[in-house]
Amino acid sequence: MVNSHEYYMKFALREAEAARDRNEIPVGAVVVCNGRIIARAHNLTETLTDVTAHAEMQVITAAANVLGGKYLTGCTLYVTVEPCVMCAGALGWSQVGAVVYGASDDKRGFRKFAPEALRPKTVVTSGVMKEECAALMKEFFKKKR
Ligand SMILES: [Zn+2]
Repeated sequence: MVNSHEYYMKFALREAEAARDRNEIPVGAVVVCNGRIIARAHNLTETLTDVTAHAEMQVITAAANVLGGKYLTGCTLYVTVEPCVMCAGALGWSQVGAVVYGASDDKRGFRKFAPEALRPKTVVTSGVMKEECAALMKEFFKKKR
């Protein structure tokens, strides 16, 4: 049986690995619409020297470009790590239908600081492949120290 959340999260993980390979904090995201991945992105804060260049911000913009409209209603955003407050706000503006994330982020995650940032209708699923998602982060920060 195919667990579809895991299926799509693997693509987000691939993006996170691409971020790691360019020495970016390894967070990756994809947007899925009607079973198709329409956009994929990873964290680019170092490359763009822009603290707002989180994976979610990049993928929201890319998905809107593909769709030709600003709203992601009916789409699901997969991201390897729990969105921060900024990204949760952006996800709220995007009207995304569902958010699926892997590892929790107790320090910067939105659930602690802005649990109402998403729209009430947005379905949130957490913990999908969380070990794999968290391991990438742990390895990255271990090497940095
Ligand atoms: Zn963020």
